Amino acid sequence: MKISEILKQGPTLSLEVFPPKTSEVYESVEKATNEIAALHPDFMSVTYGAGGSTRTYTTAIASNVERAGVTALAHLTCVNASEETIKDQLEKLKAAGVENILALRGDLPEGVESTDDWIYRHASELIPVIKKYGDFCIGGACYPEKHPEADTLAADIINMKRKQDAGCEFLTTQMFFDNDILYNYLYRLRDAGVTIPVVAGIMPVTNAKQMARIIKLSQAFIPRRYVALLDRFGDKPVALKQAAIAYATDQVMDLLANGVEHIHIYTMNKPDVAAKIQENLSEIISSCKR
Ligand code: FAD
Repeated sequence: MKISEILKQGPTLSLEVFPPKTSEVYESVEKATNEIAALHPDFMSVTYGAGGSTRTYTTAIASNVERAGVTALAHLTCVNASEETIKDQLEKLKAAGVENILALRGDLPEGVESTDDWIYRHASELIPVIKKYGDFCIGGACYPEKHPEADTLAADIINMKRKQDAGCEFLTTQMFFDNDILYNYLYRLRDAGVTIPVVAGIMPVTNAKQMARIIKLSQAFIPRRYVALLDRFGDKPVALKQAAIAYATDQVMDLLANGVEHIHIYTMNKPDVAAKIQENLSEIISSCKR
């Protein structure tokens, strides 16, 4: 089913898996995927390894999600991509029953400073190619704290409008840990004429090392409350996991209470984390359903 249709039906909770880098761990990822799919999320996204490194496995895992009866959202980047490689990937996804693509530029590979030499320099340039090769529902990424390469949030928001104008039907946010940042961002997006649904991305960070990497990559603001959790429980993995689940639950509860309808949990192949958050929110989410 098209995600644009699913988003029209009311509040949604979606979950994420990332495909394996090598065949040795394929089975364990497949198992985690099946366990997450058994939670019946509204859809599941399947990431695309940097530069297309997991291309084959992204298709296989997305196909697995569809076979499990859950709508799959396959990520696709245009780093090092030609029209031929994009067409090939889309044909494989189509054959696997995938109808939804998250169109991304992808991160700059190490040592690369600009996309000027690429065939497709921005996600908004990838979207028309995807449209050319199939009747896909297309989503994109957005950044409540601005994309790290953008000079200003205002400039970044203009580029979100470009994605919408190119045919993007919904946006999923980069993770954020302070809901006020999202509320302010949504106001600015709407003010700039971006009217498509925005799915709020929430990341339960279950280990301290992962948080250091996230701050470096996304430059996300970490509220004092979260810093205290990391300081106090950073070296106690079981306690930190529980704290991260509680923090994410609280964030989602506040988002739903303030009318944000679509929530995506970056579950990172962790069915237990996904199940716990879903359980914590079950009555709250069903009370929001129309
Ligand atoms: P773009 O939308 O192209 O934006 C990149 C930069 O260029 C921004 O600064 C933007 O303001 C600017 N820009 C955009 N359009 C224009 C334009 N027309 N003219 C001038 N400037 C412009 N990476 C992966 O490799 N695999 C994944 O599976 C993956 N999944 C992700 C899922 C989500 C929800 C998010 C938020 C990110 C994901 N990423 C993934 C990371 C993403 O690839 C990087 O953040 C990347 O640096 C930017 O991708 P984008 O699609 O947002 O790029």
